[in-house]
Amino acid sequence: MDIRIDIDRLKGDLEELGRIGRDEYGGVSRPSFSPADLEARAWLRKKIEEAGLCYRQDGAGNQFGRIECAGRTVMAGSHIDTVPNGGMFDGAVGVLAALEAARRILEEKIPLKKALEIASFTDEEGNLVGDFLGSRAFMGLLDENEVRNGRTSFGMPFRDVLKRTEFTADGILAAHKDRPALEAYLELHIEQGPVLEEEGIPIGVVERISGKHYRQCAYVGESGHAGTTPLELRHDAFLGLADLALRATQFVATKHYGSMLTVGKVALHPGSFSVIPGRADFTLEFRSASPEAMAAIERDVFALAEDISATRGLRFISKVIDQTTPVTVAPRLVSLIEEECRSLGHASLRVTSGAGHDAQILAGACDSGMIFIPSPDGVSHTPGERVDWGDLEKGANVLLRTLLRLAA
Ligand SMILES: [Zn+2]
Repeated sequence: MDIRIDIDRLKGDLEELGRIGRDEYGGVSRPSFSPADLEARAWLRKKIEEAGLCYRQDGAGNQFGRIECAGRTVMAGSHIDTVPNGGMFDGAVGVLAALEAARRILEEKIPLKKALEIASFTDEEGNLVGDFLGSRAFMGLLDENEVRNGRTSFGMPFRDVLKRTEFTADGILAAHKDRPALEAYLELHIEQGPVLEEEGIPIGVVERISGKHYRQCAYVGESGHAGTTPLELRHDAFLGLADLALRATQFVATKHYGSMLTVGKVALHPGSFSVIPGRADFTLEFRSASPEAMAAIERDVFALAEDISATRGLRFISKVIDQTTPVTVAPRLVSLIEEECRSLGHASLRVTSGAGHDAQILAGACDSGMIFIPSPDGVSHTPGERVDWGDLEKGANVLLRTLLRLAA
């Protein structure tokens, strides 16, 4: 079937959506449930309805556009929320390419054997409570206490944010009850890394999506005078952290090459140039595409953390903030996407996604796959985020044709 998306229309949609939440630094600031996001949601609803799709929204604010048919649902989507001062392509590309695909299928009156639904999931970026609020709600995987009593990343109680919207904690927790039986989920996304551009290949076929383990940690020692406490008598919390950061990174780099470990945020207390740090608060995050490596890193890094605290006379505290498991994409989806790349004459490369995506949450319900297009200069989550329109056209056509293979 020789059907193609209309790249000019898709480009127009992306540019229109990219103007909503435009900030003074030239980026897009559209965290879920912000005034800009509410405006973007109304815009998306109008677009879905204009396309002739059947619009619905669930209790978590996930938005859908459906072509009804008997049988299980083939779904494609992503998210339209952004990080503060982010770009206009992360997420938006996947939602609007799915919309364009569905629109073309309706225009060509292609008969389907399965229902086709496009999806835009709430708060993929995790600005509210934890990552993937919308897709986790869709799957019934949310922590009830977090939803009812959690604070957003901006420090506000989540329930106060909800008061400015039509959504409620009860509605969010019940959203999964509206989930249709799924056949498969597909997500087109920018790569957010440099590999495809460096290789000169327009399409990445995602084989694995990394899992993530994220903890808030602290070493607690003793503060003291920086001039009078001899080095050998100190319980310097910062040195515990420094020791751990170096040794844990070295451990991951040598024993689990390809996995990642990052200490991203540090606060020393009392935080004075003349006082030994009595407490070091820090985040520790690691990611891997291998479930075995995830388990080994968790076991060995936290054993090392305890070891260091014993040697240095410190106390180590940690609390799990978020955790996702690595996902292996179903081989039948990888093959289908590759076949469609070949039939369109586009080179493709199998890749691992180091970033998390709604597709990995959806993998709990059905075969879930991803198509990447290059991120020029590997840039994302900044105003400089870009796409090459030619690559987007290729990626969106691969999405359209893979959806038809699954649903028609
Ligand atoms: Zn994204």
